[in-house]
Amino acid sequence: MHNDIEKILVTEEEIQEKCRELGKQLAEEYKDRFPLAIGVLKGALPFMSDILRHMDTYLEMDFMDVSSYGGGTTSSGEVKIEKDLNTKVEGRDLLIIEDIIDSGLTLSYLVDLFKYRKARSIKIVTLLDKPAGRTVDIKADVVGFKVPNEFVVGYGLDYQEKYRNLPYIGVLKPHVYGAE
Ligand code: 5GP
Ligand code: MG
Ligand code: MG
Repeated sequence: MHNDIEKILVTEEEIQEKCRELGKQLAEEYKDRFPLAIGVLKGALPFMSDILRHMDTYLEMDFMDVSSYGGGTTSSGEVKIEKDLNTKVEGRDLLIIEDIIDSGLTLSYLVDLFKYRKARSIKIVTLLDKPAGRTVDIKADVVGFKVPNEFVVGYGLDYQEKYRNLPYIGVLKPHVYGAE
């Protein structure tokens, strides 16, 4: 698996340090609010797990599965709910936990949905931000790392469902994409 990686953009140590820092910061900010942390499956899973472990305060977790990408490396431009929340968001302080913001389509869809459902507040927390990919006007409140306009894998991010379990963020060697 590691042999498929051309270069590492964010190391495991950098990610872990960032999760500690952001988790502590969010815990302080939300200590009196019992936030609902919403992980966007499947990519946000490792980040959510690591960041929330450092949020030493009461919180609730739920998950949403949406898809906007097919199996490849470019966005289809459509967002589809594969699995909805089990929790009511009305009146709640939401922390949306994402792996990466690229076009911004997924997040703007979710933010609109949660506003419609009358969330009290919404904060977007993303591990990675790819500003060059943006097609809709949306900004994360909390960003772990900015990445260049390249397709990245690891730490939740997949290529054809592989590489999510890498502990770092990297770029694949061109041959891995085959004929695509
Ligand atoms: P957006 O809607 O902002 O374009 O991105 C939606 C989703 O596409 C992200 O949550 C992520 O799952 C996927 N995505 C965007 N950029 C990348 C990338 O560079 N690598 C991988 N593996 N997935 C990406
Ligand atoms: Mg995602
Ligand atoms: Mg994917």
